[in-house]
Amino acid sequence: METSEAKTKTTLRTDPLTPLASLQAGVWFKLICGASYQDLPAVRNLALAYALAGADCIDVAADPAVVAAAKAGLAAAERIANGPNFSGSYRRPWLMVSMSAGADPHFRKAWFDPANCPADCPRPCEQICPAAAIAFDAQSSGVIRDRCYGCGRCLPVCPLGLIEARSYPTTLNAIAQQVLSQADALEIHTQVGQQAAFERLWQTLYPQMGHLKLISISCPDGEGLISYLTELQRLICSTATGPTLVWQTDGRPMSGDIGRGTTHAAIRLAQKVLASGLTGYVQLAGGTNQYTALKLKELGLLNSRQVGRTAGHTTHQTVAGIAYGSFARHLLMSVIEQTLYLEEDPHTLWKAVELAESLVGPLKAVMSSR
Ligand code: SF4
Ligand code: SF4
Repeated sequence: METSEAKTKTTLRTDPLTPLASLQAGVWFKLICGASYQDLPAVRNLALAYALAGADCIDVAADPAVVAAAKAGLAAAERIANGPNFSGSYRRPWLMVSMSAGADPHFRKAWFDPANCPADCPRPCEQICPAAAIAFDAQSSGVIRDRCYGCGRCLPVCPLGLIEARSYPTTLNAIAQQVLSQADALEIHTQVGQQAAFERLWQTLYPQMGHLKLISISCPDGEGLISYLTELQRLICSTATGPTLVWQTDGRPMSGDIGRGTTHAAIRLAQKVLASGLTGYVQLAGGTNQYTALKLKELGLLNSRQVGRTAGHTTHQTVAGIAYGSFARHLLMSVIEQTLYLEEDPHTLWKAVELAESLVGPLKAVMSSR
């Protein structure tokens, strides 16, 4: 009988592009673990499964413990790729850390006092949470802080209005040196109107960026978006000419697992930034899911027609890739929760890798179908 392990060997790609080549070819796949996601075993297992499935980048919170968990997952992936049961080619994805300039909803967490919950409440909060971060059992009651990634879905469903969002007390500047030294790439989350906060963070981080291969700026839509990004571009290009620049268009933040429609918001925002002629690559996020690659392909937005070069950066007419967050995590969650160290259970490991490939594959397949 064919084992799940043997099956996987035949489905893995045989000539993976380097992460930079994937960007250039318009097939860059990034896994977003979440800027506030601190479930360490889940981060480790997600990094492991998506690395083996061919992801180009693993994006994690700028937290030393989370970075260590992701690195452990990548090290496990490398050991497996070099082992006897792996016949495909493997290259290590880049590790990205995400930081926030100014107030950012990615860095909040839900909170409530479970002592105030009526015994007969049907607990819609527990049911709606995509991260299983709300529990009422013997081990924990209320919000499990390390699992909550601040999506906010539980806030409106409480009939008594007991759930509130609390600011996550980040000490990003203090830990920047520690996490940046271990990363290949940096992402800064910002919003229109936060230029002063962005500049303060940029000045702090810039001296520690020399080794980075890529800088991503993540921004949702807003009035004056293009002017704002143009100002950020001016600042970035005046100080850093080495790393590749990516605009992460955060269409509908943290919503990809809600349904098909969320992908449209992500695509519309990407089109707006592409049309602006900003230098650098454009990569979708925020609402991305299993429909996104297909939709981009239908629209002719997935290829690599380079249109110009300014101050060491390129401009494009089409997107360079897709980042997947809540949808990608949700896809694997029921499988990776079965074991603390995925590689210790080969059947579960390869099941997780196959699921991850079901998301990575359609984007990578665009290249072979050109
Ligand atoms: S629904 Fe979202 S904000 Fe609420 S506990 Fe779960 S992860 Fe946190
Ligand atoms: S919905 Fe509100 S009242 Fe009900 S269990 Fe959740 S937090 Fe408590």
